[in-house]
Amino acid sequence: MLDDALRGLLGVRPRPVLTPRADRPRRVPPGTSAVVVGGGIAGVSAALVLAERGVRVTLLEAAGQLGGRLGAWPRTLPDGTVAQVEHGFHGFFRQYYTWRQILRRIDPELGFLRPLPGYPVISRQWPAEDFASLPGVPPLNLMALVATSPSLRLRDLRTIDRVAATTLLEFDREATYRDLDGVTAKDFLDRLAMPDRARAVLFEVFGHSFFNREEDYSAAELVANFHFYFLGNPEGLGMDVTADDHGSCIWSPLGALLTRLGASVSTGTPVDSIEPGPEGWRVRAGAVAADARHVILALDPAALRRLGGLPSPLAEQVATLTVSAPYAVARFWTDRPVRAERPVFSGVSREATLDSISLYSRLEDGARRWAGRTGGEVIELHAYAAPDGIGADEAADRMWAELGALWPEVRGLRVLDRETRVGSDAPGFPPGSDATRPGVRTGVPGLLLAGDWVRLPWASALMERAATTGVLAAGDVLTAAGARAEPVTAIRPRGLLVR
Ligand SMILES: Cc1cc2nc3c(=O)[nH]c(=O)nc-3n(C[C@H](O)[C@H](O)[C@H](O)COP(=O)(O)OP(=O)(O)OC[C@H]3O[C@@H](n4cnc5c(N)ncnc54)[C@H](O)[C@@H]3O)c2cc1C
Repeated sequence: MLDDALRGLLGVRPRPVLTPRADRPRRVPPGTSAVVVGGGIAGVSAALVLAERGVRVTLLEAAGQLGGRLGAWPRTLPDGTVAQVEHGFHGFFRQYYTWRQILRRIDPELGFLRPLPGYPVISRQWPAEDFASLPGVPPLNLMALVATSPSLRLRDLRTIDRVAATTLLEFDREATYRDLDGVTAKDFLDRLAMPDRARAVLFEVFGHSFFNREEDYSAAELVANFHFYFLGNPEGLGMDVTADDHGSCIWSPLGALLTRLGASVSTGTPVDSIEPGPEGWRVRAGAVAADARHVILALDPAALRRLGGLPSPLAEQVATLTVSAPYAVARFWTDRPVRAERPVFSGVSREATLDSISLYSRLEDGARRWAGRTGGEVIELHAYAAPDGIGADEAADRMWAELGALWPEVRGLRVLDRETRVGSDAPGFPPGSDATRPGVRTGVPGLLLAGDWVRLPWASALMERAATTGVLAAGDVLTAAGARAEPVTAIRPRGLLVR
């Protein structure tokens, strides 16, 4: 309650960024059609909003299941257990308003999300530090950080570059990108001149979570994300995790809901190209062709670049999109547990490869049951910006060795099974990329884009950016058909020092 009053007083409440016209009908006229290409968060969010409003929706997904980078699939362990593995640990932050609105369609109470009890940043050099317990409301969180964090003491503030530090508090979509999109995050952090520990623990761990290396990452994007997750976000740094795997908690119910709403969902259907068609667009996936008035391309940047038939100048704009450094995910099933006091999720600072550790057997019900039965542990390790060309097994070996240096008991564990993966489908945000980054609207009639890399006029990232762009794209289809768009809410648009 007090938190809420403070949020109002300090102007850090969530704000509507799209208020639909009340004089428009909810449902579209019969015959309105759309094809959505890509069944990750962006595509499914778009498809769901459209199907709810009576649009004839065809959703085409290349993989065998929905979910994209949040997907899950079965793996048979050596003991015969069929375990659900996932694309990787995901934190559901509380300012993910649009994504949560989508998820409320399958559970209004979001009962499948549970709060993560803190998440420390650990390293070989410094004691663990947990930022999740900071107060939720800015600038109290910043004041508490400076008052309590051993990484950033009051006397350190004297050495920090004030102009660069003020930039963090002055996020403004236009000015920040104009001034900083041409600068690398590395140069910006060098300029900030933080003490080494603060840089490592606060910024490097945070920056890595966006799958981009400091030297290849736009400083404007870093500042926007700092605003989105810390300084402009009224909900604090706390996050939730799913009670069980992402397939059971999210994708099975969302897929079933889409089908109930009459959408046609085809997995295992990689789309090759688009072309003008009798209704507006024809989408081709091998021998399959789907016709519709509207097409939403909800692909990762690499897949969108491979798609045939994009008209000019959109094709040239899409050709400028990049993917980030490869990321690696490795899940281990071990014969014994790690020490009981180990946190369920830890960020890792200053290891060559390892960026985070999740104890799945203490997070998700399925893994917990397996561990309860066998006495083992299910551990997942991530590298968010791995060396180029690294193989999945090599990344897993390196991360496991680095974990052993942080948690010595790991060296004594026997690995019963492991699943290793390297992905190259996370979007790159290199310096200068904002100028040519496409937005939801392409300028081509009936053709829209959605995904966590699509340009937005406010700060948003990762899962929330994927869902928001999906809902905005769906809103444009609804508006074009004469119906009411879907409301969208975002965090405070500008930094604390900008009125
Ligand atoms: C290891 C890991 C950890 C992460 N942790 C977090 C976290 O903690 N918090 C957070 O907010 N975000 C996190 N993310 C990021 C988050 O997963 C993404 O931001 C989000 O899932 C992107 O959704 P999307 O729909 O934009 O893209 P995607 O999920 O990439 O969806 C694109 C879809 O298009 C499909 N596709 C590709 N080509 C074709 C084709 N030709 N035809 C049809 N379909 C095609 C793909 O199979 C995919 O399903 C993490 C990501 C990873 C990989």
